[in-house]
Amino acid sequence: AQKRYASLRDLPATTRDGVTVALHMNAGLMADLPSLEGSGAEAVGLFRTELQFLIRNKMPQRAELAQLYARVMDAAKGRSVAFRTLDIGSDKVLPYMKPQDEPNPAMGWRAIRVGLDKPGVLRMQVQALIRASKGRPLTIMFPFITEHGEFQEARSHVLREIHRERSLGHPVPEKLEIGAMLETPSLAYAPQAFFDLADFVSIGGNDLKQFFFAADRENERVRKRYDSLNLSFLSFLEQVVSRCNASGTRLSFCGEDAGRPVEALAFAAMGLRGLSMRPASIGPVKALLRRVKLAEARAVIEEARAAGEMSARPRLMDWLAAQPQ
Ligand code: PEP
Ligand code: MG
Repeated sequence: AQKRYASLRDLPATTRDGVTVALHMNAGLMADLPSLEGSGAEAVGLFRTELQFLIRNKMPQRAELAQLYARVMDAAKGRSVAFRTLDIGSDKVLPYMKPQDEPNPAMGWRAIRVGLDKPGVLRMQVQALIRASKGRPLTIMFPFITEHGEFQEARSHVLREIHRERSLGHPVPEKLEIGAMLETPSLAYAPQAFFDLADFVSIGGNDLKQFFFAADRENERVRKRYDSLNLSFLSFLEQVVSRCNASGTRLSFCGEDAGRPVEALAFAAMGLRGLSMRPASIGPVKALLRRVKLAEARAVIEEARAAGEMSARPRLMDWLAAQPQ
């Protein structure tokens, strides 16, 4: 199978009925970057910057981060890298930060909430990214955006830093893209202005599912009750697709499910055209997408929905078993 995936490396993830899905990879450490070549990923759809903070025993300095981010951009050789600003709190606690005593940390002071309340680190990180870009295009993504106001505020920090760097005579990115992660259902119902302002939206399916089903992602017992091919969830994704399409906002999905071939197929059938996953998943996802007609997969999901089934999985699996290899 490995050989077969390697032979697909330079081929697009195009279905038999001609729909192409962009496959991106998730990364977070320098060690992940060599996979960019080997996997055939078109871009880094999610760079989890907190890993660099978590492996240290003190807060990294701006110059150090700028150097690191520059190396990441160099290794990407012109492919875009969506740098997600620090996503801490919940399950990710920095050893050098005062621990918060919160009964429900997953719903607590985490991610962009920390960034907006104490913007020092967010701004330092944005400065490091601007310096690392040395004028090259830059893509920044904010984690856990729940409402439009948070996105506006986070974005304004970036614009302020760009302005500041320019006034210091430093080069600023020739192109800047600022996007939001959709990880709570509320953002799907944000005003049109949000979708107009965001350059892109990336669905953080790990968190989104946890809040959609109210099932802790760390708790196997409850997590396993709810299938990612649950029709309510797929219907929700379809709504997000239609909101993004209405304003021409690029949409992708970067949670773990994007790397599971059948899930990836179902998400593409709901209209997703960008999926970001661990590098090893790109081959298997691409192989499956290239084997099928997306409109047929879509029809199978519709049948399951019309029949009132909980999940599209049983019908999709039956249909897949009858597909040519
Ligand atoms: C997600 O929630 O799906 C996501 C990609 O972010 P993380 O897993 O880092 O929370
Ligand atoms: Mg998340």
